[in-house]
Parts: sequence; C-alpha cells; structure tokens
Amino acid sequence: QRLSKRRARQEESGAVAGARSFGDLPALRDFEMMKTAMEALDLPNPFFRPHSGVAADTTVIGGAEYLNFSSYNYLGLNGDPRVKAAAHAAIERYGVSASASRIVSGERPPHAALEAALAAHYGTEAALCLVSGHATNVTVIGHLMGPRDVILHDATIHNSCVEGARLSGAKRIAFAHNDAQAAERELAAARRGAARALIVIEGHYSMDGDVPDLARFVEVARRHDAWLMVDEAHSVGVLGPRGQGIFELQGVDPAGVDIWMGTLSKTLSSCGGYIAARRQLIDWLRHTAPGFVYSVGLAPVLAASALESLRVLAEEPWRVARLNGNATRLRDALRARGLDAGASGGHAIVPLMTGSSIRAGRLSAELFARGINVQPITFPAVPERAARLRFFVSSEHTAEQIDRTAAVVADTCAGLAPVEMAG
Ligand code: PMP
Repeated sequence: QRLSKRRARQEESGAVAGARSFGDLPALRDFEMMKTAMEALDLPNPFFRPHSGVAADTTVIGGAEYLNFSSYNYLGLNGDPRVKAAAHAAIERYGVSASASRIVSGERPPHAALEAALAAHYGTEAALCLVSGHATNVTVIGHLMGPRDVILHDATIHNSCVEGARLSGAKRIAFAHNDAQAAERELAAARRGAARALIVIEGHYSMDGDVPDLARFVEVARRHDAWLMVDEAHSVGVLGPRGQGIFELQGVDPAGVDIWMGTLSKTLSSCGGYIAARRQLIDWLRHTAPGFVYSVGLAPVLAASALESLRVLAEEPWRVARLNGNATRLRDALRARGLDAGASGGHAIVPLMTGSSIRAGRLSAELFARGINVQPITFPAVPERAARLRFFVSSEHTAEQIDRTAAVVADTCAGLAPVEMAG
C-alpha cells in the first residue's frame, strides 16, 4: 500500500514511475545492437532452447528429436540409473538443499565423501567442493592472489579464471595458447617484481579441444618458483585410459601440480566445482574463501550424484575409450571432407572452424533444420576469425550417428552461398 501511495505521489508530481532505464549502459547498448543485427539476418536464436529430457546422444527440443552435440554429458552418466538412484537416496535423506553455508549448518556426509574421493583421484591430501566451477575459479584465484602478485594464464583460458585474476588485483599476463616457452619468457620477466606467481592452464581446452604439454608447464613453474593450477573441467572422464585427466594421458606425476581444479557439471553429471591440493591450502579456503564461506553448501544430492558418477567412471573405463573413439571419428571424418576441425586432439571437443560469426550462425541454423543440434561460438567468446561450431561428443553416440553428422555438415557447408561464406 505504501508503495502504491508513493507511486501516486510520483505520478502527481510528473516523475516517471517505475525503475530507471539501463539504456545508457554502453555494454547494454552494444548487446542490443548485436541482437538487432542477428534479427536482421533472420537467424533463429540458437540460445536458451529448452530441452524436454536428458540431453545425451539425442535430445528433444520443441517436440522433435535432434542428434545432439551440445551437452557436456560426455560419458552418458546424466540419466544413468545408478546415478539417479544415488540422487534419489540423497534427496530422501537430506532433502534438496544444504540450506546454509557449510561452515555453519550446511555440512552433510556426502560432502566429505565426495571430497575424499576427489583427493584420492589426484593423490592430494585434501579437496574442497563449491557450488559451481565458475565460482570456484573466481573465488579461489581471487582469494589466493593479491595486488603484489602476478598471474600468467593461457590466452584461451576460461572466463572464470580471468574473472578470478581480475578480482585478485594481481598483474595479469596472457601467454600464447599452449606455448610453455612464451609462458616462461613472460614469467621470467615478471617474476622478480612480484611477491608470488601463479600459472593457470586447462588440461583440455574447451574451445579448441587440444591439450597442453603438462610436464613442460610443471618445469616452468618449478624453475621460477610459481604455483601451477590446472583446470580439469573437460579432462575428467575424457583424458587418459581411465579418464583420470591430463596427468594420466601424459604420464605426468600429479604431485607436480599445486592446484587441481575441476567441475562436477560435465562428466560427473552434477553441478559444482572443486579444488584438490595440499591440506594446508584446502583448510584455509574452507575457513576463509568468500565464495565458500559466504555461500550455500553444495546441495547434498549433487555431491551424491557426482560421487556415484566418479565410482561408475572408475568401474567402467570402456566409456572413456568409446568417447575418444567417437570424437576422433568425427574429427577425422570432417577433415576427410576437407573441413577444418582446428587443433582438436580428438578427445571430446571437436571445433569446426567457420571463419566468421555469421557463417557459424547460419551453419548452426541450417544444421538444426536438418536435425542436428550444435552451437555456434561467435565473437566475442572467440576472436571473429576464430568463430566456429563446437561439437561436444558423447560416449553414447553411435558410429552411424557420427558418420551421418559429418556427411550432413559437409553437405550443408557446401550449400552455403559464397557471399554468406565470406560473412
Ligand atoms: N572451467 C572451464 C574450462 C569450463 O569450460 C567451465 C564451464 N564450461 C568452467 C570452468 C565452469 O564450470 P561450471 O559450468 O561447472 O560452472
């Protein structure tokens, strides 16, 4: 009632009722211009499409079934009966929310069980789970580093690491993608003026699907007394014969990495992020990291789902072999048709370089019309000339689905008008 009285007074005095406009925000204006440009091209919006069930090798959108290459359900564990049973049991026992920060009243047994399993996975002393992978990188990097420090990261590192670095106030240096030599050069130059140094890389790059030379980064970090942090979001369940990650793929001792980071949202078919490291670091983060202390605990059902997914992963490594076989098959089939699959290592992520955002958008729209769901990655997520489609392959795809996809993609690319190809 008080609100409506105030509004009546505003109207009487001629003041405009309602919230202030955001229209003078430059970034918002840029966004609206981009939206208008997309509408002018008459492309359907590929974002926020609701899927009506579990998205695996196929998915249902708007009542129609599509071949799906847009989910991180790498090993088909989202929807697995064992994972669902673990989730149901956790809901029965704990409900659906932790209902508080873990430091006060949000701690439940699945948290410690999952953290012990993750620490065992990397052979570290301890691990800590947070509510999302993004929040994990932001809060951990932001909390660990400060204005007197330097952070070096791969030029294509995930946004969450960049945001964490910005939050920290540390000097931030991006080095050329996967170039350990460039990282060393930059580090050598910046190290003397910095109190501490942190190198951040990914174990399997989410845009290109390639991997770093981990041993070389371990050496660089050691030589210059820097910490090395590896984001394994797309590596767990993907790299190495048992899907343990980049250290298993390349036979590198995981103890050479100071901070292992990962997400629960991809292979582990849940939601959340984690850090695995020395107990000293984990204990400090548990008691002081803002995104952990001042945020709700991971929902127990999500911890239980991720834990069961980890167990299934350890028990069924054939899923990893099937995933890698499928990704390699798709990459090679695209290349055999003269298409550019970028630097993909053939693990789970296969880009199709299109050279322009418009071409990526058009290709995605045409493929959707032909029953294939694959997202375009456009500027500003990548530089304009690096626009692409990005295929997330799953162990659940069949060879027939992969071959059919490559054929339809090649046919669709060939059919795009040259003027559109130029973007
Ligand atoms: N790191 C990388 C490399 C990622 O690709 C992502 C998400 N795609 C994240 C962190 C954030 O993880 P989450 O989606 O679990 O928040």
